[in-house]
Amino acid sequence: MTDLAIRGGTVVTPQGERRVDVAIDGERISGIGDVGAASREIDARGKLVVPGCVDLHTHLASTSTFTPLDDFEHGTRAAIAGGVTTVVSMVYQDDGSLRRGVERGMRDAECSLADFAFHVVVTDPSETARAEIPGLMRDGHAGLKVFMVSPRFVERREDYRLLLRAAAEAGAVVAIHAEDHAIVAARTAELHASGRTGVEHFPESRPVEAEVTAVQEAVELAATTNAAVYLVHLSSRGAIDALREGKRRARMFGETRPLYLYLTRAQFDRPDAALWVGQPPLREADDVDAIWSALADGTLDTVGTDHIPHTQAAKLAAGLTFDKIPPGVSNLETLLPMLYSEGVRKGRLTLARLVEVLATAPARIAGMYPRKGVLAVGSDADVVILDPTARRTIRAADLHSACDYDPYEGWDVTGWPEFVIARGEIVSVPGTLSAEPGRGRFVARAPLPRSR
Ligand SMILES: [Zn+2]
Repeated sequence: MTDLAIRGGTVVTPQGERRVDVAIDGERISGIGDVGAASREIDARGKLVVPGCVDLHTHLASTSTFTPLDDFEHGTRAAIAGGVTTVVSMVYQDDGSLRRGVERGMRDAECSLADFAFHVVVTDPSETARAEIPGLMRDGHAGLKVFMVSPRFVERREDYRLLLRAAAEAGAVVAIHAEDHAIVAARTAELHASGRTGVEHFPESRPVEAEVTAVQEAVELAATTNAAVYLVHLSSRGAIDALREGKRRARMFGETRPLYLYLTRAQFDRPDAALWVGQPPLREADDVDAIWSALADGTLDTVGTDHIPHTQAAKLAAGLTFDKIPPGVSNLETLLPMLYSEGVRKGRLTLARLVEVLATAPARIAGMYPRKGVLAVGSDADVVILDPTARRTIRAADLHSACDYDPYEGWDVTGWPEFVIARGEIVSVPGTLSAEPGRGRFVARAPLPRSR
C-alpha cells in the first residue's frame, strides 16, 4: 500500500497539466496517474499540485562578522510555509579558505527545516582558493559567487578571470552580482560631496548604467572563460537586453527577484523608503514591464528571493546615509503565492512557466534536477498543494520570518499553499507548520553538463 496519495488535483508535470493522483512512498514520488489504496490521503480536488520551489538565492548562513536575522531555522521556516522546500544559501570564503566557508555553512544549516546547498562567495580569488574548487565539486559544492560591485573585483580582475576559468573546467556555476564598482563609487562620492546623503538618493547612486556595464563585462568574462554565469537579481530593461544579447555568445542564466516585479522607484518618495533598500535599487515602471516579459519569454530563467531581512530599527536607524542602510528584505514565504497571484492570475505568466522559474530551472542550474524541481516518478517528494482561491492579506505578524515588517504589508494575495510536503513528510497543513529544525538535508550539487 502506498504511503501517501494526493487525489484529484491539477498536477503540473513536464508533460503538461493533468487531473491525476500522485503517489508518495518514503521520500520519493512513486507514481503519477491512478493510485490505489494508500495509508494517508490528501483530497486535492480544485487545487494545484506543483513541485516544491527551489530558491537559488538566499543569505541564511553567518560569516565571521555577521549573523543574519533570519538564520537557517527562521529563514527555512518561512520558506517551508511558503512552499520553498530547497534553499541555496551564500556562504563566504573564510580566512582565505573556500572550504572553511562551506564548513561554517554546514554547521549553520544543522537547524535547517528545508533541504539546502550553497554558493561560495569568493572574496579572495587566490591560487590557493582556485585550487580548492575540484575538491569542493566532488563534495557537491558546485557553485561560486562573485561580487563585481566590490572594489576587490577591480583590483583583482585577472585573478577573478582565472577563477572563472577554473570554475568552467570543473563545471561549477558562477553567480555574479553585476553592478559596476567604478560607477557606483563615483556616483556615491558625488552625492556625498554635495550633501545629498538621504535615502531618496539611493537609486541615483546605483544607476541602470552601472548594472548594464557590469552585465556586459560578465558576458565577456563568460565568453572568454567558458564559465556558466548566473546573473543574480537583474532589475532593469537595460540589463535584460544585455543578458538576451549575452545568451547568444556565452553560457548565461538570469535571475530577477520579487522586489523588481512588484515595486518601483516611487517607493523612495516615502519617509520610510529605507525599508525597501536592496541592491540594485527599485527601478521605473518600464523596467518592471521588461522583467515580466523576460520572465514569460525565457530571457530570465529564475526568480530568486535574495532573502536577507533586517529589522525596521536597523533599516530606519537615524543618521544612516543611503550607502550605509543594510540592504535586503524578507521574501521566502511570499515568493510563490505572490508570483501566482500577480503573475498567473493576472495573465502575465502561465502556470507551467511559474513552475519552470520557481522550481525546474533553479534545480537544473543548481545541478539538482531531476531529484528536485519536478513532479516525476523517482524525484524527491517535494510537493506543494496550492489553493488557487485562498485569499489572504500579507501581514508580517502572520509570517514566519524573524523580521518585524514585510515589504508587501497589506497586499491582497490570492493563491496560497495549503499543504507542503518535503521529501515525503507533510510539513505544513492549514494553520500548522510541523517541520522540525534539523530535518533539512544537504543536497549535493552536480556539475553543470557542458552543453546547454
Ligand atoms: Zn544576495
